[in-house]
Amino acid sequence: ALPLGELDPDVATAVNAELHRQQSTLEMIASENFAPAAVMEAQGSVLTNKYAEGYPGRRYYGGCAHVDAVERLAIARAKELFGAEHANVQPHSGAQANAAAMAALLKPGDTILGLDLAHGGHLTHGMRLNYSGKLYDVVPYHVRESDLRVDMDEVERLALAHRPRMIVAGWSAYTRRLDFAAFRRIADQVGAYLLVDMAHFAGLVAAGLHPNPVPYADIVTTTTHKTLGGPRGGVILSRAGLAKKIDSAVFPGQQGGPLQHVIAAKAVAFKVAAGEEFRERQQRTLHGARILAGRLLADDVAEAGITVLTGGTEVHLVLVDLRSSALDGRQAEDRLHRVGITVNRNAVPFDPRPPMVSSGLRIGTPALATRGFGGAEFREAADIIAQALKGERSDDALRDRVGKLAAAFPLYPHLPHVNGGAA
Ligand code: PLP
Repeated sequence: ALPLGELDPDVATAVNAELHRQQSTLEMIASENFAPAAVMEAQGSVLTNKYAEGYPGRRYYGGCAHVDAVERLAIARAKELFGAEHANVQPHSGAQANAAAMAALLKPGDTILGLDLAHGGHLTHGMRLNYSGKLYDVVPYHVRESDLRVDMDEVERLALAHRPRMIVAGWSAYTRRLDFAAFRRIADQVGAYLLVDMAHFAGLVAAGLHPNPVPYADIVTTTTHKTLGGPRGGVILSRAGLAKKIDSAVFPGQQGGPLQHVIAAKAVAFKVAAGEEFRERQQRTLHGARILAGRLLADDVAEAGITVLTGGTEVHLVLVDLRSSALDGRQAEDRLHRVGITVNRNAVPFDPRPPMVSSGLRIGTPALATRGFGGAEFREAADIIAQALKGERSDDALRDRVGKLAAAFPLYPHLPHVNGGAA
């Protein structure tokens, strides 16, 4: 019964160091967020001990009354939050949600259309080395070179030419809203299923600040840890008619025992996401991204050859375009890292540099909005980023400004360091 710090000081030290990193830097990786303490409490609970293969009321193990109650809550809340007829809350991650959703409706060798990874799509939408690229015959679609928006004419052309069994709509690096109605129309034209992967923007949808794909898609998948702000995990939503296929594709198709502690944490996150505070937070998230885009479109930044893809954003992230800058993606990421801002480099469409270097940055606002940032703080953070990328001010001065912002918005102030590990 030794506490972590005594049983394993090495792990405790790493956990403490990570807590300190999160508290003292500005987290602007677009796919990250800070889960509420109550979500982490549920995730760190005794539910981790329970085997519960199957679904509520039809388990292959005894003693499931309490995890049944929790999973029923999570399902009911997910359905209510997104207006879906069916929800499966068991996928361990977004990638597994997509794997199960595809397995439910496709056979190996079937054709799928997905947004090219290099143009903002996700690995699971058909990348060569991913299960999706190996199992299915993938036809990638792209953004237009002229305005960098998804080219719906190309989607239609490819759909008519290749007759896919499924069209996947969704993205990991894109700053505009997709036209779900147009995707539906094209899918109907060729008799394809439409899967929308809303992993990135699910929190905005929950808050009513982004179009909801549920009425248009056969299946909607999401992660629960990005804008949605919950535990790391996945969910599949669908029409009632596909419920059986999806449930059996998740278990026993793809997974064994569900992570009931994570499902409990998902239930808590859905409750939070249904509230007014959450909506207000998503509004600040969007506002912060617009402020950041505005600052990075200013003349002084443009003079350094730096601009913003698509000239702005309608979501929680900004894509910085470094194609005309001497600075490449890796150097830009390092520069921000040195002043205490965490982002990730990202290939931009039509990137002349190799993926490991790349010519872009993806910068998101969800985590800082969760931390409490409003307009004034996002303006300050945006200016720090602009100055760091221009490279004219000293790192020390910028790091100081980052430190002040972080100190003004304490993160997890009541979460103790793990005793026994180094602080
Ligand atoms: N789908 C999209 C659009 C994503 O951006 C991601 C995360 O990067 C995933 C799925 C996969 O989620 P996970 O990392 O939980 O497997």
